[in-house]
Amino acid sequence: MRRRIGYLVAVLALVFGGMAVTAMATPVTASADACYTWNRTLSNGSTGEDVRELQIRVAGWVSSGENLVIDGVYGAATASAVKRFQSGYGLAADGVAGPATFSKIYELQDADCTPVHFDYSEFNDNCGANNFNGGKVSATQAKENIRRVMWQLEAMRHKLGDRPLVVTSGFRSVSCNSSVGGSATSLHMYGQAADLGLSSSPSQCQMWNSGKTAGFEELLGPGYPGHNDHVHVGNKSGQFWSAPNC
Ligand code: ZN
Repeated sequence: MRRRIGYLVAVLALVFGGMAVTAMATPVTASADACYTWNRTLSNGSTGEDVRELQIRVAGWVSSGENLVIDGVYGAATASAVKRFQSGYGLAADGVAGPATFSKIYELQDADCTPVHFDYSEFNDNCGANNFNGGKVSATQAKENIRRVMWQLEAMRHKLGDRPLVVTSGFRSVSCNSSVGGSATSLHMYGQAADLGLSSSPSQCQMWNSGKTAGFEELLGPGYPGHNDHVHVGNKSGQFWSAPNC
C-alpha cells in the first residue's frame, strides 16, 4: 500500500510537472504585444474594437486627400488602406489583415500604443505646461486624437524614406494657442494637428505632398501666411484645405 501511494505521488508529480512545462511553452493568456493583440484575421465585413485599433494603425495609408473613418467597420476604404500599408512594408498586399500584417504592426508600436518613432512627449509642450489640458476637448480625448496623428506621421515618415520628422508644435491649450498667434479654430487645440519643422527633415514640399496621402486634410505650408518654416498637418474631416505652392 505504502509503495502504491508512493507510485501515485510519483505519477501525479510527473503529470503536473509535464503540465507546467506545457503551460510555459504555450501560454494561453499571454499577449503577443504589450499594447494590443489581435486575435483573429480581419477582412471586408469584420466589425469591432479590433477593427477600430487596426484602422488607427493604417489611417496614414489612404489615397490623396482621403481621411479614413475610424468606425470599427472594415469596408472597402479600410481594405485599400491595409493593402497600401502591406505593400509599403513589403508584405503580400491582399487587403486582408492577418498574422504578417499584425506582426509588422507589433514591430511598429510601443507599449503605450504609439508608433515607435513618435511619442506623446513631442506633442505636449503646450507652451511649457507639459500637459494636454485646457484645450477644446478633454486631455484624454486630446491624447487619443494625437495618437491617431502619430500613426499618420509614422506612415509619412516611412513614405519619405524613413527620415526623421521633427514636431515643433503639437497640442495647445486655448490660451497657449492665442499666445502663439494660432487661429481661433486651430486644430492644435483638439490634438488633431502637428507642425513639422524643417531642420534635419525632408523638404517642406516633400512633407506637404506626402501628408496628402497620409490622411491629413488640412495641409499648410509654403506660401500660406506664417507657415514658411514648417508644414502644418491636421485632421479636418471633409474640409480639404491646402497651401498653394507645392
Ligand atoms: Zn499648425
